[in-house]
Amino acid sequence: MAKLGVYENVVAQFDAAAELMNLDPEIRKILSTTINEVIVHFPVVMDDGHVQMFTGYRVQHNNVVGPFKGGLRYHPAVDIDEVRALATWMTWKTAIAGIPFGGAKGGIQMNPREYSLAELERITRRFTFALGNNIGPEWDIPAPDVNTNAQIMAWMLDTYQQMMPPLERNRSSHVVTGKPIEAGGSVGRDKATGQGIVYVIEAWAKDHDFDLAQSTYFVQGFGNVGSWTARLLKSYGATLLAVEDHTGAIAKPGGIDADDLVRYVRQSGGVQGYPHGAAIDHQTFLSTKADIFVPAALENQITAETAPWLDVMLVAEGANGPTNVAGDAVLLEKNIQLLPDVLCNSGGVIVSYFEWLQNKRSEFWDLAEVDSKLHKIIVGGYRRVRDTAREYQTDWRTAAYIVALRRLETVYKERGIFP
Ligand code: GLU
Repeated sequence: MAKLGVYENVVAQFDAAAELMNLDPEIRKILSTTINEVIVHFPVVMDDGHVQMFTGYRVQHNNVVGPFKGGLRYHPAVDIDEVRALATWMTWKTAIAGIPFGGAKGGIQMNPREYSLAELERITRRFTFALGNNIGPEWDIPAPDVNTNAQIMAWMLDTYQQMMPPLERNRSSHVVTGKPIEAGGSVGRDKATGQGIVYVIEAWAKDHDFDLAQSTYFVQGFGNVGSWTARLLKSYGATLLAVEDHTGAIAKPGGIDADDLVRYVRQSGGVQGYPHGAAIDHQTFLSTKADIFVPAALENQITAETAPWLDVMLVAEGANGPTNVAGDAVLLEKNIQLLPDVLCNSGGVIVSYFEWLQNKRSEFWDLAEVDSKLHKIIVGGYRRVRDTAREYQTDWRTAAYIVALRRLETVYKERGIFP
């Protein structure tokens, strides 16, 4: 899959919003680049005794409103261009939500499926060691992303704490979020991105007098985000028509049971071969006639080539950057509505913020508290984006950027530029 110019997409989206809102030209200079870019090369001993070198990244885009924040992904496509783009999107995401974090992202260029669990642990620990003080609980706080999970966060936490004097260890459990609950994680963090997507879709449905119980949807990606979104939409009575992941695509006109598919994927590693659905090709998948499409996999899936195939009313972006600039233009032309990534998938980082707060205060919130606070924050973001789209007579992606840029512009103006 060509992933040329992911960062160029961010720049184009940023420029469009900055022009329309008349962003202060000096502040525009600051926000159009990243602050720090860390690249580390580190050796890891494999199970068979040989040594392999890995390349890891951490890009910190902005921290004017709070510590850098964002996930780490393990994927062959991870490179500086991609991580820059993802870090920048995190800055907009946290600004739209109005939480006191900046934006960062990182990862390792690798295919985790090629490694044993013991190797993954050593890779993760050695990466954490290589990052050293480039991360920290009040400085830069990683979290799960594509192909990383709570177990990886537990290894990172443990490694980070081993590098500190014993009396400081318990002060730093908020160095990563998305941890297992027993190791200081928050209830509701695992499903948080999916839960946020569903809250945003629900808010959109209310505004449009749209009955979710009668609706149909299909999902690309069946990892944390895709599978949780699919399961949570099921509880509204919506019908899941098709699912695609890295192993293939499946469809069933009468509806796929998302919970049953989760059980199957846990055993088989992917949706391919699911007995209660028929295999379909990529184009047929994207052409599924439905009300809602949730891309929850990787970047650049909705493009000038593929966007014309879509036959939906709404695209709710679970992935980061699933639609490129040319894809956006086609969606607009076709009158397909959009819940943009920096708003729609912000539930993960919002509940990461709750986890961070609980760790700092040695508190433990219950699920009802987490969910209701998530709902309040993400629906607040939804309303700001909706109202800004009306105010500027623009598309929702540009409106989302304007919400973020306005907030950051205000902070820079208040604080001034040192010295
Ligand atoms: N990786 C997630 C995202 O892209 C979550 C980041 C976080 O919780 O810090 O938003």
